[in-house]
Amino acid sequence: MTTSSDDEARRIARAQLPPGLRPETLAVRTALAPSQYGENSEALFLTNAYVQPDAATMARRFAESEDFTYTRTSNPTVRSLEARLAAMEGTEACIAAGSGMGAILLLGMGLLKAGDHVICSRSVFGSTINLFAKEFAKFGVRTTFVSQTDPGAWRAALEPATRLLFAETPTNPLTDVCDIAALAEIAHGAGALLAVDNSFCTPALQRPVEYGADVVMHSGTKYLDGQGRVMAGALCASKKLVKEVFGPIVRTAGMVLSPFNAWVVLKGLETLDLRMRAQSANALQVAQWLEQQPMVARVYYPGLASHGQHALALRQQSGVGGALLSFDMRADSPDAARTAAFHVMDSTRVLSIATNLGDTKSIITHPSTTSHGRLTEAQRSAAGIGQGLVRLAVGLEHPLDVIDDLQRGLSTLTS
Ligand SMILES: *Cc1c(COP(=O)(O)O)cnc(C)c1O
Repeated sequence: MTTSSDDEARRIARAQLPPGLRPETLAVRTALAPSQYGENSEALFLTNAYVQPDAATMARRFAESEDFTYTRTSNPTVRSLEARLAAMEGTEACIAAGSGMGAILLLGMGLLKAGDHVICSRSVFGSTINLFAKEFAKFGVRTTFVSQTDPGAWRAALEPATRLLFAETPTNPLTDVCDIAALAEIAHGAGALLAVDNSFCTPALQRPVEYGADVVMHSGTKYLDGQGRVMAGALCASKKLVKEVFGPIVRTAGMVLSPFNAWVVLKGLETLDLRMRAQSANALQVAQWLEQQPMVARVYYPGLASHGQHALALRQQSGVGGALLSFDMRADSPDAARTAAFHVMDSTRVLSIATNLGDTKSIITHPSTTSHGRLTEAQRSAAGIGQGLVRLAVGLEHPLDVIDDLQRGLSTLTS
């Protein structure tokens, strides 16, 4: 006869996956062991505290690891997400945070101290620039912002105090790609670490650690959730960094991910590979069509042969361009360009006018009056973000419906 402790041991043993599984399988199967009920879909543990069997066990747990004493220190649903994302990125460990920006804050708190120096691409996400340039600067951490695409500029910016290189590839909205392997070599040659924001490609298309990155950062708000529902963030790195550096900070500083949000993202990861490939294929079809339109001056998409780093992008991103593209309207003046861009956006009846991306719903936005609206016109034009630039995050609608929706405005432009 089987005893209940045999059942328990077999339940936990069944949850140990065999080695050598492929990424698509890991994305569906990696998680903590199911509970005694044997649920096939991972459970959502919405609890902030854990009842201990007795006082001595509670004392031991606090003395050892604080595991499963309080949800600011650990939660099974959050742990499952961390295990799954680490498996997909090919890192030893992962730690979740409440948002993508929370994850970058955690990165800085963990790796930097007063007097340290950071090198960062000048084309990264706007809030990332503010976090390094304004907030970390308050604590005596200096950041030099350099060209996304020129590794020589990163090397030239090195100082004895440089501890961290931070890159994001491809960038938003112009989809400039950086050479992760080249930046890793520069960082490691100077005793610094390389962190890569992988929110746009996700591990389905690009695994930065394979090119030498030390930390992979995510806004789980984007493609990992994939359906525009929750905020989430994460850092994927070595066990040593996660356990000894980042973990204690999350416990103390509290930038934890809600178990509910973790559960939503955990389930989102199961379809990530399919979504990224389908949305990238849709984006390529839309980008190729846009390139043929007389009122469109230029299309920015790494999957097009006309992209400045097409070969590098395909090599680094599993042969595809991703799901995000931008295009410039043809016009004689900045005012006319903005009018044309607004006309195209306002003529859509299917696409969402919003500033998010990474959703199954295609989203159209105007960077120069939204994400880049606080920059001066000179800063914007230095960044290549004109009044005629439109960004499109392509979702899962039929690509011909997305094309028809853009055609409504493009075919009725009066200039
Ligand atoms: C959205 C985004 C972030 C910030 O993530 P949040 O989850 O919104 O805090 C960081 N990097 C990139 C590339 C993003 O798109």
